[in-house]
Amino acid sequence: MDFGFTPEEEAFRAEVLEFLDNYRDVNGYFHRGVNTPDGVRRVYRALGDRGWLSLSWPVEFGGAGRSPAYEFILWDEMAYARVARPPMGPGLVAKALMSHGTDEQRSRFLTELRRGRINFCLGYSEPDAGSDLATVRTRARRDRDEYVVDGAKCWTSNAHWSDYIWLLCRTGTQDSRSRGLSVLIVPLDSPGVSVSPIPTLDGGRLNEVRFDGVRVPVGNRVGDENEGWQVVSSALAVERHVQFPPKRLRRDLHDVVTGLEAAGALGDPVVRRRLAELAVRVAEVEALALALLGEVISGEPSAVPAAYHKLAGTVLAQDIARAGLEFGSAEALVKGTDAEFMWRQSILETIGGGTSEVMRGLIARQEFGLRA
Ligand SMILES: Cc1cc2nc3c(=O)[nH]c(=O)nc-3n(C[C@H](O)[C@H](O)[C@H](O)COP(=O)(O)OP(=O)(O)OC[C@H]3O[C@@H](n4cnc5c(N)ncnc54)[C@H](O)[C@@H]3O)c2cc1C
Repeated sequence: MDFGFTPEEEAFRAEVLEFLDNYRDVNGYFHRGVNTPDGVRRVYRALGDRGWLSLSWPVEFGGAGRSPAYEFILWDEMAYARVARPPMGPGLVAKALMSHGTDEQRSRFLTELRRGRINFCLGYSEPDAGSDLATVRTRARRDRDEYVVDGAKCWTSNAHWSDYIWLLCRTGTQDSRSRGLSVLIVPLDSPGVSVSPIPTLDGGRLNEVRFDGVRVPVGNRVGDENEGWQVVSSALAVERHVQFPPKRLRRDLHDVVTGLEAAGALGDPVVRRRLAELAVRVAEVEALALALLGEVISGEPSAVPAAYHKLAGTVLAQDIARAGLEFGSAEALVKGTDAEFMWRQSILETIGGGTSEVMRGLIARQEFGLRA
């Protein structure tokens, strides 16, 4: 296996770094209680103007038709700079529309997604459906050429500034589990939609999105009725290589080392030993990320390598932040410092996008054939 990038890919990285110089004031990773979307939206629009939101889209859909390695490089450098995370719209939503959408849906959404002009949030989780999405209760009842949607989603990232929600809802009977789900695109300004904040541990915001008799045209359903599970499963599979960019960890460790240096703690052999261990683990996660990228490029099934990578990377994010608190100066423990914010933010990472326990279960079943 060749872990190197091509000269063209490295040249692209240089372009990305140059681009990032204009956006170093934007922080889409650590909200520090602010969580204003304007900077991130500005970045997405600028990426859209350069064609960088559609790097690996097929040319027939207006993309650049490049290798997923370009997307990896882009979002890895964005993570090191902490500028922005990959948006759902041009990633997961667009790729699902290419596979499962109608021509009308593609022509309505793909150009605006590619240009970074519209934003989507992901409406999967509910109060009683998170790890097990087959229990989703938000209901879409058919009424001639519309669905009438009632229910509530929770933990929805970015719903307070998105234009549409990519909604997983029940169109079959409640006990139909994954066989009775459908995906609808719902404009967030539809009558009957309300969005309210759920404050997060890192001072940011997730959302509750409520649907009260919301009317959605049947033409906004992606895939067949009751075939939503296939749509969301295949959509999850295509974006794995950019969801947890490993350079975020390298940056976290760099910041912790800098903080410990300022606190005069770097001479302590116990500190040095812990930092060396963390540095080795960062390199391990980078290797896992590249192995995952290799699987995505070759079109191999990537659920298991993605689970290894997500698990190792997000647990490590917590351990790096923890070292900053444990070995830092007394100031590191004060509420609102960089070190303390990094730790609070790292807690969220092992939950969003699938919990560590669920990742371990997936590896146990699919890699080792174990059953509970
Ligand atoms: C920062 C952040 C952003 C998020 N953004 C979104 C978003 O944009 N859209 C969206 O739809 N959701 C979002 N979520 C929700 C996220 O997907 C869910 O929180 C996650 O899937 C877990 O579901 P849950 O919270 O219902 O916990 P539960 O599924 O109820 O799990 C509770 C506990 O039980 C454990 N558990 C559950 N099932 C198993 C199992 N089979 N084996 C072993 N242990 C198990 C879990 O690990 C956990 O410890 C976000 C969450 C966070 C933290």
